[in-house]
Amino acid sequence: MGSLRESLSNVIQRRFSSNEEAPISDEPDHATAMSRTGSRERDLTTRSLQMSRVRTADTALEQVVEQQLRLLGYRWISNDPGLPGKPDFSFPKLRKVVFVHGCFWHGHECPRGRLPKSNTEFWIEKIARNSARDRRQVEALELAGWDVLIIWGCALRPARIIELACQLLDFLEAQQPFRGLDPRDQ
Ligand SMILES: [Zn+2]
Repeated sequence: MGSLRESLSNVIQRRFSSNEEAPISDEPDHATAMSRTGSRERDLTTRSLQMSRVRTADTALEQVVEQQLRLLGYRWISNDPGLPGKPDFSFPKLRKVVFVHGCFWHGHECPRGRLPKSNTEFWIEKIARNSARDRRQVEALELAGWDVLIIWGCALRPARIIELACQLLDFLEAQQPFRGLDPRDQ
């Protein structure tokens, strides 16, 4: 595992230092991401421009993880509507899912998760609802035998990209005991 990790680090480092972008525009999952952005934008007509920027940033976060997963050679399903919370990435054969959470919307206890000074009550309630929904979705997934990894936006800085790749690899390669059939397989 050690040497695999080293060679992966090399690949990833080369990839990033050459500033090469993975071509994603013709991928179906990218199209999904775009349409999601569209509906998100429509939601936002009554909200501030600042919040719209935060959401666009969330999509960018998913793309960072997507690029790493592609470099690591995984295949996944994006936003499977058959799973609780439509996880950003699901791996049916591995029975694992990955969520990428923007720190603001999902209430991370970090500087990026800090609430605006105006309308604070509204935001406290809103973000608390989001967090409660996130917890319910994780519980539902785990009950159905899925392993869940949550990646926070603040962990996706370029300086931590190798850490991210290792985290994904550790999570996806970890053996998990067989916990029953997916209801959709029956
Ligand atoms: Zn954070």
